[in-house]
Amino acid sequence: MSAFNEETVLSVHHWTDKLFTFKTTRDKSLRFSNGHFTMIGLRVNEKPLLRAYSIVSANYEEHLEFLSIKVPDGPLTSRLQHLKVGDRIIVGRKPTGTLLIDYLLPGKRLFLLSTGTGLAPFMSIVHDPATYEKFEQIILVHGVRQKDELAYHDLLVEHLPAHEVLGELVTSQLRYYPTVTREAYKNMGRVTDLMETGKMFEDLGIPPLDAAGDRVMICGSPGMLRDLKQMLEGRGFVEGNTSRPGDFVIERAFAEQ
Ligand SMILES: Cc1cc2nc3c(=O)[nH]c(=O)nc-3n(C[C@H](O)[C@H](O)[C@H](O)COP(=O)(O)OP(=O)(O)OC[C@H]3O[C@@H](n4cnc5c(N)ncnc54)[C@H](O)[C@@H]3O)c2cc1C
Repeated sequence: MSAFNEETVLSVHHWTDKLFTFKTTRDKSLRFSNGHFTMIGLRVNEKPLLRAYSIVSANYEEHLEFLSIKVPDGPLTSRLQHLKVGDRIIVGRKPTGTLLIDYLLPGKRLFLLSTGTGLAPFMSIVHDPATYEKFEQIILVHGVRQKDELAYHDLLVEHLPAHEVLGELVTSQLRYYPTVTREAYKNMGRVTDLMETGKMFEDLGIPPLDAAGDRVMICGSPGMLRDLKQMLEGRGFVEGNTSRPGDFVIERAFAEQ
């Protein structure tokens, strides 16, 4: 059996000239856990051109959804950004990754810290009822440069709290903290700084970080991961992985060349 499925694009939404979302059909045999990523791509000159992508949609949904950057001269995204409804894309049949609630020790609060497209895996995690069973409170942090890069802002603020099945859980347990670095916004600054200084906790009116009851997932640029990992380890948090659960887990939102 091939390692890939071919799926059809169902819709495309451009958030900005650098960021877009698309939905595709989903082969019934594709299994994944919320937080996983898989390889996706296009056939170019008969050969698959593939990159790692987090799955935005939850594992119980009938379609697949992805959030993508547009890198002007990027081999894949210079092409992928022109996707249209009805186009075919390749989707790997073996999703994987470390951003699973199973790889975290039991705790009270779950912090989901993201920058840019690092929000993608957390979208499926906040759509998973198991997240709300395992943790009393979920704090979703999304850092971007400009306001219009706050993908899924309206879904998180309006639609998810009104969701038929998840609405009540979301309203009582999910806090969303969007922050912007390059223009005026209600929350401003880098995620690392907002945590280090305690500003984010003050703004949300919640107690400071505490390794005893807090668990953390991080998905962002390599620099953001390095800084936050250092900060957490300095505060007694232990990193988990696919074979040993811990207090925090990390995944790169992209690899630097
Ligand atoms: C585990 C994992 C999960 C990923 N999930 C996603 C995802 O959900 N959405 C997504 O858009 N990308 C994601 N990526 C990045 C993705 O694999 C590709 O790098 C991206 O699609 C660009 O492909 P490209 O061929 O156009 O350019 P590439 O040659 O792959 O990248 C060129 C350069 O562009 C920059 N870059 C690449 N991706 C990003 C990004 N997402 N944000 C900011 N800068 C970037 C980097 O500096 C990189 O060196 C993920 C990467 C990893 C390792």
